Amino acid sequence: MAAESRYQALFDPLKIGPVTAPNRFYQVPHCSGMGHALPRTLAAMRGMKAEGGWGVVCTEYCSIHPTSDDQPYPFAALWDDGDVANLAGMTQQVHAHGALAGVELWHGGSYVPNLASRLPSIGVRSMPSREEPVQSQRMDRSDIRAFRQWHLAAARRARAAGFDIVYVYPTHGYLMWEFLSRSRNDRSDEYGGSLENRARLLREVLEDTRAAVGDRCAIAVRFSADGHGDEHLSAAEAHDLIGLLDDLPDLWDLVVGDYYGEEMATSRFVHEAALEERIARVKRLTRKPVVSVGRFTSPDTMVRQLRTGVLDLIGAARPSIADPFLPSKIREGRLEEIRECIGCNVCYASNYRGAALRCTQNPTMGEEWRRGWHPERVPPGQGGSVLIVGAGPAGLEAAHILGKRGYSVTLADAAGEPGGRVTLESRLPGLAEWARVRDYRLTQLRSMPQVSMYLGNRLSADEVREFGADHVLIATGARWRRDGLGRWHSLAIEGLPTRGVLTPDDIMRGARPEGEVTIFDDDHYYMAPVIAVQLARAGAKVSYVTTTGSVSEWSHYTGEQERTQQQLLELGVQIRVSAAVVGFDGESVGLACVYTGREWRQRASTLVLVTSREPSDELYRELVGEEGAVPDLKIQRIGDCLAPALIAHAVFSGHKAARELDEAGEPAPAGRDRSVVPGN
Ligand code: ADP
Ligand code: SF4
Repeated sequence: MAAESRYQALFDPLKIGPVTAPNRFYQVPHCSGMGHALPRTLAAMRGMKAEGGWGVVCTEYCSIHPTSDDQPYPFAALWDDGDVANLAGMTQQVHAHGALAGVELWHGGSYVPNLASRLPSIGVRSMPSREEPVQSQRMDRSDIRAFRQWHLAAARRARAAGFDIVYVYPTHGYLMWEFLSRSRNDRSDEYGGSLENRARLLREVLEDTRAAVGDRCAIAVRFSADGHGDEHLSAAEAHDLIGLLDDLPDLWDLVVGDYYGEEMATSRFVHEAALEERIARVKRLTRKPVVSVGRFTSPDTMVRQLRTGVLDLIGAARPSIADPFLPSKIREGRLEEIRECIGCNVCYASNYRGAALRCTQNPTMGEEWRRGWHPERVPPGQGGSVLIVGAGPAGLEAAHILGKRGYSVTLADAAGEPGGRVTLESRLPGLAEWARVRDYRLTQLRSMPQVSMYLGNRLSADEVREFGADHVLIATGARWRRDGLGRWHSLAIEGLPTRGVLTPDDIMRGARPEGEVTIFDDDHYYMAPVIAVQLARAGAKVSYVTTTGSVSEWSHYTGEQERTQQQLLELGVQIRVSAAVVGFDGESVGLACVYTGREWRQRASTLVLVTSREPSDELYRELVGEEGAVPDLKIQRIGDCLAPALIAHAVFSGHKAARELDEAGEPAPAGRDRSVVPGN
């Protein structure tokens, strides 16, 4: 089916130097948690994007040489012919669907610690690495020459691997950025001083790359549209540089200087198309095509970027993870089927934790190769009826997939509205976009007559038995504990009164304590700070207490930690780190230092406990007894009722159960992407 004419511009081909993108959908380089270690997993995931209609599909950061080794974070590599062979697997899968493949050649400079290779990292001068207690080696002229040779050789290998677009990457704090940085670059030779001198290495690498790839590949530069702050590269200098170098690349892939705060920020802090103004300013300075990101999920916003001349290509990382088939859905006019990214950065966190990509909205992400899951297609089932109790993310996902597989599904929920925790949490400050998890699935269910939903229906075990479904999935969720038990307290806090103690469930259901409120965060993610924001804005005097050394420590992995702590400070929330709540009497809380055990009290009329959750599995237990589910009973629990975790886990759990329903015996084990030593 043709795209609606108002979206046609998104499907016009575009020449990028010597190659032509088939449309304007461009998956910019993004971390995958797979890198060089999981080549089949990576190839299948990138290939799926091409199948879904992305006209250009790029790798993540791809190291050119062992002096740029980011272990423990997974990075791609083009160090030798083995890497060429592995990445050729990706380019083949991308080309099979008519898309172009891009590779982001990368040298981390001082930023990387080289934990695996044990080589000193190299930098414009000796500087500490990002996290490890090691410093780089200052580059002299022979090191610069060596670096150019490595980059050139990697560009040749990129060409041999079949890439169509080769990146030069002087951004995000890496090696060529160090040379551009006014404060990092203290050289007095031809590579330091004036902007032209600081940009000399970048110019040389661009010329070398052209020599390496000839007219077979396009060259892209990933560059910050507003510089990196005056101490490094001012916006004016960044603009001058684009003018100075504009003849050399075929494409500018533009980002902004504030990576965590803006470019990669979550929907709690930044909304769609947030970079637009700054990119528009730079677009006027270049004659080359421009791609940039903005967590674009609305085709109207995308088309506006092209019409107003801000962008030539619609860049996306997260929207392409949440929905690899986003371009096809726009082309076929299936806009209501787009699975919109919610901006939670769980994808980013998985890379940060060294695990293959996962996504809250798209449970098949990262499972294309090892489980053979397709984001749009599921195999038909054996038929029969399924009762799902609980319409939270796990229940909704299971109903959606089972409906697609042809089962007759009844979905019941005690609440008057569907969505479970997603509905409740999306009403907290900054989490509105999370409702997309519910809305995407409800839209799917609307076109499935084989799925019926009954709200305001709390089912008992007898009712479940009487219903007589062939299969029962219990997706009844979890509740926040009211006794303080969690990571810090392995036993309940003694002597807690019933009045004045609240949990996130109470706040989400409308409790608004006034006066002095202490929030105890032993969960370390978004819930406690978001509640602090809610209550502080409503006028309460909020004290935030956490057992870790900073606010919302785990959100470091989603890139939100700094903005979260900043937000609480700006709202006047009192922050007490490295402390635990050890008591409460309705007038004050007892606190203890987690290091010394020293105790003290502070005034509080309300204590909000954000510690851990308890599965709401009473119904399940009543149905299966102490023995637990046996296969014949065909009753299983899914989502938070099975094991409380992130929304991403609940969606995955519902998806997996729905895919594997009726599979005889144990589900097939997931594939393992590794090489096996022959003869052992
Ligand atoms: P998950 O994240 O695992 O999907 P949620 O907590 O979001 O879990 O959703 C669980 C849902 O189950 C809630 O909407 C709740 O109203 C519903 N529920 C819990 N117990 C019952 C029951 N006995 N009958 C029907 N619905 C129930
Ligand atoms: Fe978007 Fe969250 Fe999925 Fe990442 S994990 S792509 S931010 S929905």
